[in-house]
Amino acid sequence: MIPSGRKNKAVFFDRDGTLIKTFTNKRNNPIAIKTLNDFQLLNNVKQIINKLSKKYLIIVLTNQPDVARGKNSKKNVKEINNKLQEKLIINKVYTSYSDNDKNFMRKPNPGMIYRAKKDFGINLFKSYVVGDREKDVIAGKKAKCKTILLKKKYNDCKNTVSDHCVKNFKKILDVIKV
Ligand SMILES: [Mg+2]
Repeated sequence: MIPSGRKNKAVFFDRDGTLIKTFTNKRNNPIAIKTLNDFQLLNNVKQIINKLSKKYLIIVLTNQPDVARGKNSKKNVKEINNKLQEKLIINKVYTSYSDNDKNFMRKPNPGMIYRAKKDFGINLFKSYVVGDREKDVIAGKKAKCKTILLKKKYNDCKNTVSDHCVKNFKKILDVIKV
């Protein structure tokens, strides 16, 4: 955890498919990587996070239900999270291991955002949530953050409740001015 300094607003990022590569299955649904061997930052992520981190706390919120499903270990998830924190300026990574959609800490519920708000003193009205799935957007909406969906082959700018839909990571800076 990197302390907040004077910052009181955040950009909350999803992890898989937003900051790092995912696989997709036959039905074109994204599948999270399981081990460090497949770790790969997506294009422009490092550069854009560097810029945003000058004015915003950078917080990662990740659902990792494969742990509850017995398909991956917490150890593997944490290794990937640690690698991400080595590569990028991230104040903290919050992880939900649940696969129960009623769990308040699992997106689309806003529990992880509220936990971060408490830990860092974040003004959620001035903060953004960025993700590649509607779950991310809905969590952000529930917490009254501004929301950005990243266009991918497995989502649709027309059928989203997000405030903004951008076609690549760089375009985030058209929305969030730094
Ligand atoms: Mg994702």
